[in-house]
Amino acid sequence: MRAEIISIGTEILMGEILDTNANYMAQRLPAMGIDLFFMHQIGDNKERLVELIQTARSRSDVVILTGGLGPTEDDITRDAIAESVGEEPYVVPELEAHLRNFFERRGGRMPEQNVKQATIIPSGESIPNPRGTAPGWWVEKDGAIIIAMPGPPAEMTGMWENDIAPRLTARSDGGVLISRTLKTTGLGESMLDELLGDLRHAEDPTVGVYHKADGVHVRLASKAMYEDIARDRIAPVEQEIRSMLGDAIWGSDEDTFQEAVAGLLKERGMSIAVMESCTGGLLASTITDVPGASGYFRGGLVTYTAEAKIQYGVDASIIDEHGVVSNETAAAMAGAVRRQFDADIGVGITGVAGPEPHGGQPVGAVCLGIETQDESYATGYTFAQTRAAIKARAVTSALTLIRRATLGELMTGSSGVYRRL
Ligand code: AMP
Ligand code: MG
Repeated sequence: MRAEIISIGTEILMGEILDTNANYMAQRLPAMGIDLFFMHQIGDNKERLVELIQTARSRSDVVILTGGLGPTEDDITRDAIAESVGEEPYVVPELEAHLRNFFERRGGRMPEQNVKQATIIPSGESIPNPRGTAPGWWVEKDGAIIIAMPGPPAEMTGMWENDIAPRLTARSDGGVLISRTLKTTGLGESMLDELLGDLRHAEDPTVGVYHKADGVHVRLASKAMYEDIARDRIAPVEQEIRSMLGDAIWGSDEDTFQEAVAGLLKERGMSIAVMESCTGGLLASTITDVPGASGYFRGGLVTYTAEAKIQYGVDASIIDEHGVVSNETAAAMAGAVRRQFDADIGVGITGVAGPEPHGGQPVGAVCLGIETQDESYATGYTFAQTRAAIKARAVTSALTLIRRATLGELMTGSSGVYRRL
């Protein structure tokens, strides 16, 4: 089964909104055994849309549209579909009553132009919208399926989950593509490539290596008639990779790095406290994304100036001697905050998020310090990026250090300032 997606809306072409609807579906179609061959973005122009729908349905089995189902003049999706299959929309009395009812329950009268949301064409079927007024359309004509869903992502995904995905899965006979992603840290892309060796050239499952913000991901994918078969092919290769990479794997599939680090802290019964400068609290915020954070997170301080750092226990002479952005100061921040909150692990972050250099250090210079009961360690990085990206990279690097400290591998494979306490 071949599909194409058409996202409708002039705002998309103007770069005002991102086409997350297409992205959402693109992530889900492979597992349903449906091949996605084209994604289009088009403005609110009926003529051009009719032409595009005709082209799409001439070469694909399913054409999925989102957007343009609203009540206004520029919502042209229904008319364009009708025209492209040569049919006339008509009002469905039950849909109209339902719509009027919807407005009345909210204490209003339905604007007459909304009645176009209660229309359908002879070869179409109306799809309920659990989260809004505009129903979707499922049209089948001359062997092709045309689906229209509303633009607002919540409405689109609601309809997708309730109706569209189950129906498409039932119609697809191309088997399924199942994938498993193993997420690693501490190993570079090329190192992983080398470690995986011949597995990289296997055909089923295929093994791909991808560099991501939270480390390198290894993705195993298998295409089979049934999900069980694909999973059975993936499992032994996953085991092989797991025994090869061990601790370097921190999670899989939807796991986030902060969840993995938090899980490890909870498992080992260790607590943490953080003192942040250039990240302005982002580490504290990220690590408390995970529910139950009070089980391991003791507290955080944002000390933006040298004075504030000193006020909360950083030795002034260290800052004087090494500068405010230095491994030594980061280590002293880690120690100070560990004492302040009586935590097992203290973390300090000091750096230059930019756009101006600071304290004699260039933009993107970040020093991370970490202190446990027995050890103190600090290391520096230079992230050549925007302010937001520098902060994000600093946080990911801090989480990496926290993970290593929790595993008792603080010194593994990197240079920095290390001290046994
Ligand atoms: P529309 O149904 O085209 O009037 O779209 C209504 C709203 O849904 C737009 O203003 C956007 O906020 C959102 N929207 C429409 N299309 C998309 C899309 N492809 N991806 C994400 N959001 C969208
Ligand atoms: Mg629109």
